[in-house]
Amino acid sequence: MQSVDVVVIGAGFAGLTAARELGHAGLEVLTLEARDRVGGRTWTEYRLGHELELGANWVHWVQPHVWAEMTRYGREMIRSPRADEAYWRGADGSARQGTLDEFMTLIDAGQQLIIDDVRAAIPRGTEPTVGTIQELDHLSIQDRIDALGLDPESRAANESVWVGHVNAPLDQVGLSSALRWVAASGGHWQLMHEASSTYRVVDGMREFTARIAAHVAGEIRLNTQVVSVSSDAAGAIVETADGTQIRARRVVSTLPVNAVAGIRFEPALPEVWARQHAETVASQGTKVWLRASGHVPRFFAYGSQHDVFSVLKAEFHESDERGDYTLLVAFGPQHDRVDLDDLAGVQTAVDALRPGLDITEVTAHDWMTDPLARNTWMTHRPGQLTRDLAALQAPAGVVHFATTDNANLWGGFIDGAIESGLRESRRIADALRHG
Ligand SMILES: Cc1cc2nc3c(=O)[nH]c(=O)nc-3n(C[C@H](O)[C@H](O)[C@H](O)COP(=O)(O)OP(=O)(O)OC[C@H]3O[C@@H](n4cnc5c(N)ncnc54)[C@H](O)[C@@H]3O)c2cc1C
Repeated sequence: MQSVDVVVIGAGFAGLTAARELGHAGLEVLTLEARDRVGGRTWTEYRLGHELELGANWVHWVQPHVWAEMTRYGREMIRSPRADEAYWRGADGSARQGTLDEFMTLIDAGQQLIIDDVRAAIPRGTEPTVGTIQELDHLSIQDRIDALGLDPESRAANESVWVGHVNAPLDQVGLSSALRWVAASGGHWQLMHEASSTYRVVDGMREFTARIAAHVAGEIRLNTQVVSVSSDAAGAIVETADGTQIRARRVVSTLPVNAVAGIRFEPALPEVWARQHAETVASQGTKVWLRASGHVPRFFAYGSQHDVFSVLKAEFHESDERGDYTLLVAFGPQHDRVDLDDLAGVQTAVDALRPGLDITEVTAHDWMTDPLARNTWMTHRPGQLTRDLAALQAPAGVVHFATTDNANLWGGFIDGAIESGLRESRRIADALRHG
């Protein structure tokens, strides 16, 4: 039986970071990844005539863990195109059109009110459970908006912005997600908007993760699904789907909370994992790429949380033998509202946000039904953050947990995944050095 110091399960950002750091600490590491590629919920694929990010796309320099990696690997960023036109739904559900500046003016006061107490709620973004968040965590984002008494036009616009951020109906998402991400952005909601949806990585996530993978000492074994982890105080036996067993002194699981039941743990995982897995986290949306005929003026459209799409945006102008076309990216708050095989239905959903487009093709990956993910970018349900975060970070014997789901600073983002990989690799290196 192969024997290593550490088995890392999963080669997303958390797993790649953990594996690299453990190797640098002089430990023998084996990384097991069920997919045929590294990157996890980042996935650059050539579709619709373009390299598209089917998963994560945007990074920012206020995300310190990502930015350190951007610097280390010489990655550059490029701004997503600015919108010349903005579309949104009014309080009566009818379409409004204006400039992006007009939309920003409409949401300005409400956006500030939603997070106005952020400095008391989460004074330090790196400690998201310290502050008045303890008393506020039972609230959903909808509860907060309902209590503000915004005028109906402003309220509708503010709701649409937040449903775009959190990819779930607002009554299911904790206010904590809004507060912690704004806290991570120094308390400024405008900066949080920029950080979460503006700058993408030149050459894409495929190249970014390939660079990290190239620095991982030890094998990254693809197409290798872990089915069980049996551990005691001395170490663990990790079993893969083809029956191979590997002995390890420590194990790092990078599975998202929603997907953790994909592995049978013996002894069973701590109760916090079972509970949050049963509840699921709040995020449940989707990201869809669409091809529209012609070079459509750059626009940004917001739908309501009851629409199929909450956000629609013109990203790339392209041309091929069929003529000019525009690639649009859309986000929806519930993945199962979108049927990719129903182009007419997708067209209707687009018409509701931005009339006058001719949609000819559509593509996406449904991360919510993907058994290795079952999640998009994590947002918590009310109460989950303060109740569970510390317990989710704690190792269970020789089994450690590195996932963006249990990060402190940018939980739900790539930055959080890297943070968690660094945290658990340091813990293991310390333990094995002294153990
Ligand atoms: C559509 C979408 C858009 C997003 N947009 C952004 C964005 O713009 N910016 C941003 O910062 N973040 C964004 N995110 C979130 C970001 O992608 C994640 O936070 C981050 O990639 C999570 O990294 P991770 O390593 O924690 O988890 P994952 O990337 O999910 O890695 C876990 C790995 O474990 C593997 N695995 C699972 N089960 C097993 C098993 N049994 N055996 C072996 N391997 C297994 C999986 O295949 C996967 O590779 C987005 C996510 C999605 C889905």
